[in-house]
Amino acid sequence: MNSDEILAARRRAIGRNVSLGYHRPVHIVRGAMQYLFDETGRRYLDGYNNVPHVGHCHPRIVDAAEHQMRALNTNTRYLHENPVRYAERLAATLPAPLRVCYFVSSGSEANELALRLARAHTRRRDLIVLDAAYHGNTTTLIDISPYKFNGPGGAGKPPWVHVVPVPDVYRGQTPSAATDADAVARTLDQMRASGAGVCGFIAESCPSVAGQLMLPPGYLDAVYRHVRAAGGVCIADEVQTAYGRIGTHFYAFEEQGVVPDIVVLGKPIGNGHPIGAVVTTAEIAASFDNGMEFFSTFGGNTVSCAVGLAVLDVVEDEKLQAHAQQVGAHLLSRLRPLVEESPLVGDVRGSGLFIGVELVRDRKTLEPAATEASDVVNRLRDEGILIGTDGPHHNVLKIRPPMPFTIDDADVFASTLASVLAGI
Ligand code: PMP
Repeated sequence: MNSDEILAARRRAIGRNVSLGYHRPVHIVRGAMQYLFDETGRRYLDGYNNVPHVGHCHPRIVDAAEHQMRALNTNTRYLHENPVRYAERLAATLPAPLRVCYFVSSGSEANELALRLARAHTRRRDLIVLDAAYHGNTTTLIDISPYKFNGPGGAGKPPWVHVVPVPDVYRGQTPSAATDADAVARTLDQMRASGAGVCGFIAESCPSVAGQLMLPPGYLDAVYRHVRAAGGVCIADEVQTAYGRIGTHFYAFEEQGVVPDIVVLGKPIGNGHPIGAVVTTAEIAASFDNGMEFFSTFGGNTVSCAVGLAVLDVVEDEKLQAHAQQVGAHLLSRLRPLVEESPLVGDVRGSGLFIGVELVRDRKTLEPAATEASDVVNRLRDEGILIGTDGPHHNVLKIRPPMPFTIDDADVFASTLASVLAGI
């Protein structure tokens, strides 16, 4: 089918709110590491897909999947070494108390399970969430995602969800980590006064949908203390940031110096194969083991575990965390001067290969430059570079490439972005 035929068929056969990227959608037929190729053979530099973490169609991942698919693919009801090897390898990447794994097939499924674990352990339901957060596409996860329930088509928040401001160092509504964390303490006080006990707190360790933000140092530490003192558990949604993306650490919560009670993993851990995982403490796992069986048909299947193990092997063997730190530092050093050079660029932030460039119309009012951001993304697409926008105002350029992204790619990206910005 040619691109026009696909587009017409999509309109007929697939729900309209399953959206396409770019004014002129890209018809991609092949991927290789940090590159995508369209139907004409044109190569695009992938600057924002974090799912193919170790690279699109990385040969070791493809081989692992193919090899295991030829031998066996079944569920966790039989003895097989793959799920236990994968669980042990995954747990070994996490701090000591996090030792018990559950496998599912998506980030949403993993967050759903994390909520069940937290509720089983605390026997409470009320949850504290960061504003502008997104945690997944199920009914309950829309209920805890302000980005969705406050957005178009949203129905507002349910009474058991308590939203606190997302610390945004650039927009600066709140000046310090302690003040930001105080908002959580105040929310806990209000909950106590109204008789609601806290089940837990969930946050991305670097809020991504909220605008590729880095939390202020000490923020999660202070919040976790408040939440735990009130009897709640702390959930880290690492769906976007796991496996060395931020360069300095393997998981983004480590950058904040905290140890969560429950860690939620998705996207990059399967490199495009649908894998989600939840890792928790023995104590919380024991509370969840309450007589009701937990079973996910596809979670922890033999092939997924082979893929998950291969992804961990490649991340380690190719030293991708150190690579992200080196390339990310270079890319940030090329992007930071844009704040001086382009009147549109208000802020450049990030760590490793998790980077945001916030566009504003006015440096004082910080009026979001959303149409300009969309313009930049579409012009970059025409230049053969794929990125997207994020943030509650849709004005943050989201830069989160597959980890093999090189220094040369970073240079091409930075100079193309500079010339596109100059033309806006
Ligand atoms: N958590 C976060 C932080 C996410 O960004 C996403 C997906 N964008 C999810 C959870 C849900 O993952 P999935 O789409 O795999 O269900």
